[in-house]
Amino acid sequence: MKSLKERIVNNGRALNETVLKVDSFLNHQVDAKLMYEMGTYFKEYFKNHGITRILTIESSGIAPTVMTALQMNLPMAILKKQQSKILNGEVYQTTVHSFTKVMDYELTLSKNYISSDDKILIIDDFLANGEAALGAARLVEMAGAKVAGIGIVIEKSFQVGRKKLDEKGYDVYSLARISKLGKDLIEFID
Ligand code: 5GP
Repeated sequence: MKSLKERIVNNGRALNETVLKVDSFLNHQVDAKLMYEMGTYFKEYFKNHGITRILTIESSGIAPTVMTALQMNLPMAILKKQQSKILNGEVYQTTVHSFTKVMDYELTLSKNYISSDDKILIIDDFLANGEAALGAARLVEMAGAKVAGIGIVIEKSFQVGRKKLDEKGYDVYSLARISKLGKDLIEFID
């Protein structure tokens, strides 16, 4: 997605060799037009995957997911990050290690918002080590549903997440793929 890559180059800032800050259009301030365009790309790629529902992870996956759900005319739900385990039968829950916060959280989905015949598209803002996406996929599979695709806004391809998702056989589509980060340096795969 050319406009996203331009935006990353113009407004993104590599904090170090692994963390990219994109607060001015994705993680803090949100550029709604750019989010809508992301939705157009996700729809185009996933339109023939038989998707019935979209899941995202709070909070930065929400904006591109709303725009995708709108254009694909599908329901969406937000996976919640809880600090502790909920001990009742009404939710699916799995422990995820946070790349940016260096801590664990409980990713949570109400049983009301998924069913075993769903084909799910998971969307998130970043793919680093793959913990968040794999956690989301575990929740989908706990419900007996199928992961029909994973849409990522910014993939840091030099970290292990992409490889892990590929090894599991998931269909991953990323709007921007970064091959290298460093001080004043952002390189893309293509
Ligand atoms: P993973 O679970 O793949 O290791 O990391 C993905 C999650 O960590 C995303 O949901 C995102 O919130 C956060 N994340 C990972 N890398 C970055 C990064 O470089 N910049 C920002 N802003 N968030 C990141």
